[in-house]
Amino acid sequence: MSERKRILTGIRPTGPLHLGHYAGALENWVRLQHEYECYFLIADYQVSDYADDIARVRDAVWEVALDWLAVGLNPESSSFVIESLVPEHAELTVWLSWFLPLGMLERNPTLKAEMEAIEHPEDARTKAKSVPVAFYNYPVMQVANILMPRAHLVPVGEDQLPHIELTRETARRFNREFKPIFPEPEGLVGRVPRLVGTDGNAKMSKSRGNTIDLKDSAETVAKKVKGMYGGPPRGMHDPGVVAENPIFLYLDAFDHDAAELADLKERYTRVGVSNKELKDRLTALLNDLLDPFRERRARYEGNMGLVREALEAGTTRGRAIARETMEMVRDALDLNYLGKY
Ligand code: ATP
Ligand code: MG
Repeated sequence: MSERKRILTGIRPTGPLHLGHYAGALENWVRLQHEYECYFLIADYQVSDYADDIARVRDAVWEVALDWLAVGLNPESSSFVIESLVPEHAELTVWLSWFLPLGMLERNPTLKAEMEAIEHPEDARTKAKSVPVAFYNYPVMQVANILMPRAHLVPVGEDQLPHIELTRETARRFNREFKPIFPEPEGLVGRVPRLVGTDGNAKMSKSRGNTIDLKDSAETVAKKVKGMYGGPPRGMHDPGVVAENPIFLYLDAFDHDAAELADLKERYTRVGVSNKELKDRLTALLNDLLDPFRERRARYEGNMGLVREALEAGTTRGRAIARETMEMVRDALDLNYLGKY
């Protein structure tokens, strides 16, 4: 076995990845992939579309893999794992569900938000839906995901930290009551803990339609940036308040020329800088960032066999370590019933 420490993290296959995923998580994954043994999970058990649209989930699995390759994750040194093809995740979820009190799950902020969304559905079609049991399973499953490769580090966006805390508590309890097999994993939040949406909303999120996707063309990026919320109305040459204009949050996130950015903010405050100038600068920066991703993506799109190989090989490695962990878990829980006689 490798001596490197292990990373487990993942993304739900709900569609193409966006700048929020990149700044909050992927950027760290790319940086850490050679230092750690990495398991990147495509968490398809945790998508609620099965009843509605399995084809969409399937397409999204490939989209996620392409985006990962595009940003520079190396599928040979890291493992891209399709969650449901490692059914040990489901098995561990069942055992761990005895460790987590329902009240604790009900207080979980992510779960709470999703419950509310389903309890106050916006369209007539879903109005009849009640809360599926899976909503309670899925935080438990996230705990199982992290514990499965006995991960040490979990690089994620800020919204995921409560799940990591839940995982640490579960690991502590398991280790104390049975056998010490799980490291207590640390969370690692990216440079931009939560990227705002292009509409100025608190989180860039697909469901809010306020994303800039990693695979967007240069023209699309220009168009989306042009339409971005740029703070309260202001004459073209009026001074402005930096904190009121979310375009600066993007410049903070993606402009690496600190001196020029400081100068821009100073001019903005003193004599005013048009939103057009800010947006032109941002568009150029984003396209510089995304250009190499687009090139790599195009190469893989021309050879989807390579993407398939990445998914197959990674899932095989993910399954191997899962089997190893489940043997340890069964041993710790003393589940060898047939050994009695
Ligand atoms: P979306 O709302 O667009 O579907 P999501 O939050 O559901 O995105 P997940 O698959 O749950 O996406 O999360 C993948 C990772 O990306 C997580 O670590 C999450 O914290 C991070 N992430 C997602 N959106 C953002 C954002 N706007 N800013 C920072 N990190 C983010
Ligand atoms: Mg998502």
